[in-house]
Amino acid sequence: MSPSTDLRPNEETVALAAPNDASLRFIGHIETPWNNRADCPRQGHRDGPECRLVLHPVWAAALNGLADYPVIEVLYWLDRSRRDLLTQSPKHNGETVGTFALRSPVRPNPIGTSLVRLIGINGHIVRVRSLDCLNGTPLLDIKPNRCDFTPQALPK
Ligand code: SAM
Repeated sequence: MSPSTDLRPNEETVALAAPNDASLRFIGHIETPWNNRADCPRQGHRDGPECRLVLHPVWAAALNGLADYPVIEVLYWLDRSRRDLLTQSPKHNGETVGTFALRSPVRPNPIGTSLVRLIGINGHIVRVRSLDCLNGTPLLDIKPNRCDFTPQALPK
């Protein structure tokens, strides 16, 4: 799937040099039931289908201890997004707002994050629920949801 080039009314773009100022290392990919955006949920559901974080086998030892956490944070690279929108007009409400006021996959660095339920770990494969990404999405990182260290929502 190639990045979408469609613009909606009132959306603005910025001309950017090719991004080359940081390098990330994908640690694997994510297997989900969704092969197109129309089917993919906008945010994961608590009781969503089982998905698999398939790490490169070299990272298997890095999963030691993760099974102690029923909820983990997954960071992934929304690789099929365009990256040049300043403003966006989400189709569900027709308003136009700035990219940083949205959790849209379209952003300069298309990093997605989700808190997901850990089902189990088999070697280099982590089974989870509550994801919202397309099948084959590159995996960036996994963190435990440790209440002592996870950033808390600020009070209103
Ligand atoms: N939960 C994450 C977050 O809040 O950072 C991502 C939320 S984003 C609204 C989820 C949407 O991104 C999905 O509904 C789908 O339309 C789109 N998406 C999922 N995987 C993608 C990928 N690999 N490349 C581009 N878009 C993707």
